[in-house]
Amino acid sequence: MNFELKSETKKMQNDKKIGQWLTDMNLGYPLTISGPCSAETEEQVLTIAHELKNSKTTIFRAGVWKPRTRPGSFEGVGVKALPWLQRVKKETGLLIAIEVANASHVKMALEHDIDILWIGARTTVNPFAVQEIADALKNTDKIVWVKNPMNPDLELWIGGVERLYEAGIKKLGVIHRGFSTYNTTKYRNEPKWQIPIDFKARFPNIPLLCDPSHICGKRETIERVAQKALDLQFEGLMIETHHSPDNAWSDAKQQLKPNEFQKIINRLKVRSKTFKDEKSIDKLALLREEINQTDKLLLQTLSKRMKIVKQIALVKKEKNVAVLQTKRWREVIGKMTKYADAAGLDVEFVNRLFKEVHQESIRHQDKIVND
Ligand code: PEP
Ligand code: MN
Repeated sequence: MNFELKSETKKMQNDKKIGQWLTDMNLGYPLTISGPCSAETEEQVLTIAHELKNSKTTIFRAGVWKPRTRPGSFEGVGVKALPWLQRVKKETGLLIAIEVANASHVKMALEHDIDILWIGARTTVNPFAVQEIADALKNTDKIVWVKNPMNPDLELWIGGVERLYEAGIKKLGVIHRGFSTYNTTKYRNEPKWQIPIDFKARFPNIPLLCDPSHICGKRETIERVAQKALDLQFEGLMIETHHSPDNAWSDAKQQLKPNEFQKIINRLKVRSKTFKDEKSIDKLALLREEINQTDKLLLQTLSKRMKIVKQIALVKKEKNVAVLQTKRWREVIGKMTKYADAAGLDVEFVNRLFKEVHQESIRHQDKIVND
């Protein structure tokens, strides 16, 4: 048995057809998906869909089976919503997208000719569930999106997409919806933008969408996060809308009225992907050369620092003194954060940077002292 997955990963990385659906279907840029967190009643679904009909939305979303954190919350109306969504498609021409979490959801979605299926954050964390969904979808030509897992694990996210790819599903996309944290932050789910940026760098052919609603958890900050996603070259946005958000059966605080949503979409700045004029291109080339030189200096300086750190480790080893010297560490971080301000650098950033540098120094010293 060969458990080496690398060749499949390479194939998926180089497969340009993966994101072809987005160009072929001509759904607009940014691709805009909207609709309620949950389908509640036939009337609610149709009201929202008709209010969205003349917006830039081309795909209508609705949760039919809702994975909830605690039992007793509204868990979705289930399969009876699927004919309502078929009506939405017939009356508005919008494509339909729903979340699936197991093989039986897939079966029902296929029976009702749902256009797009997405795997939710709570399902992406579970390889067994994703595999079951992939098997149920085997060789269909559905569009499938994989939301990032709840935890900030890029490999787990990629693994979910690979399971679908290996099952022959070739119209794929991913949705960044932020990551769960224990402490409360200004987000419901921390965006940790570096993770979708890394995803895009590794799989440039897979369309990357952003779900600002589940990142923000409240409607006031959705516009800012949506703009940031566009500035990071995400291909589309999924934003929850409801005709009467405060009365929604789930995620009431983060849903927008369709007309408010439309205003936000119209205000978003769509910037060009690259520089086009010669003068800017030349100027950029010069500045980038300067950056390259500076980066080289940065590395040389770090390398010099690590060499000193190793010398110190030898002294610690000889004298049998502990690697971590808390007083000294406090002194270093204190000095650096003080300099940060004078150097025009963000204190938080300098803090993070030196913690990393210190961790690396400890790693080197630990090795020298113990090997
Ligand atoms: C949703 O989109 O309604 C949803 C449940 O999202 P997530 O899987 O991102 O929590
Ligand atoms: Mn929701």
